[in-house]
Amino acid sequence: MKIDVLTLFPEMFDGVFGASILGKAREKGIVSLAAINFREYSTNKHNTVDDYPYGGGGGMVLKPEPVFAAVEALQVDEGVRPRVILMCPQGESFTQQKAEELSKEEHIVIVCGHYEGYDERIREHLVTDELSIGDYVLTGGEIPAMTVIDSVVRLLPGVLGNETSAVTDSYSTGLLEHPHYTRPAEFRGWAVPDVLISGHHANIEVWRRQQSLLRTLQRRPDLLEHAELSDKERKWLAEQPQSE
Ligand code: SAM
Repeated sequence: MKIDVLTLFPEMFDGVFGASILGKAREKGIVSLAAINFREYSTNKHNTVDDYPYGGGGGMVLKPEPVFAAVEALQVDEGVRPRVILMCPQGESFTQQKAEELSKEEHIVIVCGHYEGYDERIREHLVTDELSIGDYVLTGGEIPAMTVIDSVVRLLPGVLGNETSAVTDSYSTGLLEHPHYTRPAEFRGWAVPDVLISGHHANIEVWRRQQSLLRTLQRRPDLLEHAELSDKERKWLAEQPQSE
């Protein structure tokens, strides 16, 4: 997979692209990551990328020319149509399902906004998707872009050491994940649940599934509406306390 980020602050990506899972995915050649400064595509004298809004009012607006030029200058493999994603608090909410959908693409381009916003023609004529990482406003699209990139790249085959760990993650299953414990079996008098040290794998699976259901019921009951549950599980859930 190829991911190109268009930003006014490419240096913000240096650490993120080089560390942890993203760094390893890059080293293994599973993903190529590039942060491109679209200011380089400004054609005016002072390399400006923003201008005053028509109609007046506060804040500056990103001009269309440098953003269009930067996207159009990207190297695209023959036959590939990149997804061009605008990071935007007004966009579609970014979810695990969206991350899974994007992880199947060959080439993703992410445009990071700044200032008051974008010239509307970027939204209308350049991008294929608009994504928001939540109902709050950040200074720029860089941190949202990092969020999207990290969650997409960790889903690519060969990136995570244990292939099953992404599959059982919260939201991938439609539920929140079960609790985890590690050694010591007792810490400050708090013991690990007996079932986990029993060595009985079938019972451990039952416990994990029940904990996952219970946690979802108590923290994110909205997810249960679309989760695949058996009649027995629905009945079991109806008997459980609604809060922790
Ligand atoms: N005036 C805009 C509005 O009210 O919709 C907000 C502009 S914000 C200060 C600047 C940029 O940060 C946006 O263009 C976008 O790229 C990014 N951004 C801010 N919050 C975001 C969010 N929740 N999700 C995705 N991108 C966001």
